[in-house]
Amino acid sequence: MPTKIFDVIVVGTGAGGGTAMKLLCEAGLSVCAINSGPRTEPAKDYKLHRQVYDLKYRGYGNPMRLEAKAHQEPYSVEESEYSETSDIFEHDVEYSNAPSTDWYWKRCKGTGGKANFWGRSSARFGDIDFKAAELDGVGENWPVDYSEIAPWFSKAERYMGVASTVQNRPSNPDGEYLPPMPWRCIDYIIQKGAEKIGVPYLPDRCAQLTVAHNGHPTCHYCGNCSRGCDVGSFFSPTWFTIPEAEATKNLTLLTNALVRSVLVDETGMAKGVAYVDRKTKREIEVYARVVVLAASCVETAHIMLNSKSRHWPTGIANSSGQLGRNLCEHLYGCPGYGYLPQLLGQPPTPDNIADSTVAWMPRWQNLKNPHEEKFIRGYSVYMGGGCGEFPGHYNQIEGFGSEYKRAIKRYYPTPVGALIQAPTLPSPTNYVDIDPEKKDIFGIPQLRFHFQWGANELLMWEQSKQVMIDLFKAMGGEMWGADDEPNRPGTSLHETGVCRFGSDPKTSVTNKWAQAHDVANVYVCDASIFPSSTDKTTTMPIVAFTMRTCDNMLSNFKKGVHKRA
Ligand SMILES: Cc1cc2nc3c(=O)[nH]c(=O)nc-3n(C[C@H](O)[C@H](O)[C@H](O)COP(=O)(O)OP(=O)(O)OC[C@H]3O[C@@H](n4cnc5c(N)ncnc54)[C@H](O)[C@@H]3O)c2cc1C
Ligand code: SF4
Repeated sequence: MPTKIFDVIVVGTGAGGGTAMKLLCEAGLSVCAINSGPRTEPAKDYKLHRQVYDLKYRGYGNPMRLEAKAHQEPYSVEESEYSETSDIFEHDVEYSNAPSTDWYWKRCKGTGGKANFWGRSSARFGDIDFKAAELDGVGENWPVDYSEIAPWFSKAERYMGVASTVQNRPSNPDGEYLPPMPWRCIDYIIQKGAEKIGVPYLPDRCAQLTVAHNGHPTCHYCGNCSRGCDVGSFFSPTWFTIPEAEATKNLTLLTNALVRSVLVDETGMAKGVAYVDRKTKREIEVYARVVVLAASCVETAHIMLNSKSRHWPTGIANSSGQLGRNLCEHLYGCPGYGYLPQLLGQPPTPDNIADSTVAWMPRWQNLKNPHEEKFIRGYSVYMGGGCGEFPGHYNQIEGFGSEYKRAIKRYYPTPVGALIQAPTLPSPTNYVDIDPEKKDIFGIPQLRFHFQWGANELLMWEQSKQVMIDLFKAMGGEMWGADDEPNRPGTSLHETGVCRFGSDPKTSVTNKWAQAHDVANVYVCDASIFPSSTDKTTTMPIVAFTMRTCDNMLSNFKKGVHKRA
């Protein structure tokens, strides 16, 4: 039998990989998509609309469930008793942390990846982000400007369905939106308080369907998004890109297939990938004319660093030495929480309308001048609270027995809390590499993290605590407290860098089309190409940049730069 050669291999089926395989399949290419875990099946894997008291462990899950696993650390929010019987979170592949690094790497290995459970915040980046290095002298400018990427943001928004309003904010270009999410009672009170202290409080850009869109139904506001949507009312590859790619019949989808490296031919160009079948632990090779890596930021760098050959002794396409470097992240943490006494005694009404990013405080610092504050760049803040399905304030007030239960109920409509989203700056000491001593259970050398918070983001963190003190005063609230420390690095799941794009092959891994400078038939479709972090989240931009990259790749196929199989 002749060896099958595909036009394109796409590694990963998340926001980036799913978008790539849909577009390439629809263009008529034969695509082999390779996913490290099993298929995500909403009917089986999402156990929504069940109350915690109907679950054996009250939603927390069996404490022994990870006992036999190689990587036993449980993940937050999305991994709970609601998804316990499915095997869609990564607990087989270990990673390591350098001394004094505490990176928390949460991975969803099921098809669709993390966007099965994401928070859906979907703001556009702007020139204030792309040209930040020019403004303040730190890091590298992006190789694109806003006018070039804006049409792709529009395409991504029109496809995904993003709800918001036109806001005319200097750091937040407006897009093409569905009607905004309805606000909660607390949002109106917070907005009034924020106005008094000069902080914007506006509807977030949320990829959730406030009206039926592109064949997907309107959200029914059950508030279970972090456990996966059972009807597909927010953008996820499971409901959007994967079925559309499959409908073309041009897709071969391999599951439980863990890619370890990109294979090269005698000239150093990519000829396919080698993967380990999770079930048999056998190594298998698949061949294609073009390889797209979209395994999620740091995992893409892991695969590339492990792709060593005579041509690429430090990892494929790494002549710049930048592979794995410039790891950026969002500093997350709660700079203030408390309650609104004016709501005490109000009847509890369901506020878990979206279970996430209804409104936010978009960046308001350093807008006129990059050096207005003690730090450069800026951060945003999300506010949560009100009557969620579960009383999140249970651990913020003290008590015991029936008196405690009464207190929980009394405060039910009143709690509010903040979440800061502060970008880190690229730093030579924040990077990933291959641990020279450790391999995972499949024999693959492990990825190792080196990461510390920098002074700039810690200054933002300190300022946000003072903002919260002022805000609580301005809105007539009472503060209960604030986190002592930021969350662990990795918590935000918005890591960027490690495979940055740029115009100069000496200082970047890919060109502005996300095509490797050194290996013209390798493309990258995830946030690893973003040279810096912003105050905004990454998923809608991943989709937009992937659309643009695929458009360029298709024209390269037409021009004969890449030959069909
Ligand atoms: C609870 C939560 C809230 C979030 N909130 C937001 C938000 O509000 N806004 C926002 O923009 N983002 C948010 N995110 C982050 C968002 O989900 C990610 O940015 C996005 O999903 C990344 O997409 P990706 O395709 O790059 O990676 P992933 O979604 O991680 O997909 C990677 C895929 O590659 C596969 N894979 C990995 N390694 C290999 C390998 N070696 N071989 C083969 N396949 C492999 C995986 O199985 C997976 O399918 C949130 C995430 C979570 C979990
Ligand atoms: S709130 Fe809407 S988007 Fe979220 S799980 Fe329910 S129906 Fe789906």
